[in-house]
Amino acid sequence: MNRATCVYCGHENITAGDVWVCNYCEMAMNSANAMSKLGDGTLQESLKAVNGGISAGNFDAALAEYEKLAAKYKEPQFYYREGLICFQQSNAEVEQVRYDRKGFMEENAVHRANASKIESKAKTILYKASVLCQTEMKSGIEDPFLGFAYFMINVKIGNLKTAKDGIAVIDKHGNAYLSGYANMVFSAELGRYWDVIAHANALTKSDMFSPNAYYYIAWALFKLRRHRESMHIVRELEKYIKTGSVYALMHDIQKTSTI
Ligand SMILES: [Zn+2]
Repeated sequence: MNRATCVYCGHENITAGDVWVCNYCEMAMNSANAMSKLGDGTLQESLKAVNGGISAGNFDAALAEYEKLAAKYKEPQFYYREGLICFQQSNAEVEQVRYDRKGFMEENAVHRANASKIESKAKTILYKASVLCQTEMKSGIEDPFLGFAYFMINVKIGNLKTAKDGIAVIDKHGNAYLSGYANMVFSAELGRYWDVIAHANALTKSDMFSPNAYYYIAWALFKLRRHRESMHIVRELEKYIKTGSVYALMHDIQKTSTI
């Protein structure tokens, strides 16, 4: 196993091959390309500032910093990450909605309005990223990474029909790792839990390894109500990747198991 930094979100990853999908933002990259971008250290510094802002709950500052990166690189993957930060900000607003407030809950209304405003901003950015993918593909630039970006962007928008076109682009270039990963995510979106497990299992083999596959196996087992097995995997996984999704899944299993 190796450790490598994601060029789009700046988090450290556990990787096996040269091609990998980030444990945090789920964007695909190859190590050579990532290392050349991160080479001079300025991108890494900016990403550190962005992540510092997110951890402190200062989303406006984090987004202002990230917008500069997206404008500099003009790649769909950077707009994708910008959209995800907006989604995080929107979730943070939703978390502030409380039902124990007195009166007519005006404050809740403000948080809800903010959340939906930020969510539509996220979607606008993601649509822009999707159009950018289409433009690049039309101009003849087509590779499995662009196909993967097109796929993930449309999954986040909720447009599964277009996301499927992204899988076709990946398949055309014959990258088994990225095809397997995209099909795993696609099956999860469709609620086909056994298909999720089948695709994820293929991504636990040494030459195709992705730690994220264990998250998807645990998630599918949870959905299939196999809580004990799911918890066993998620506890192991937590030793290697400490993402919000891993903790959220752990919380969901614990909550359901105590009922
Ligand atoms: Zn990432």
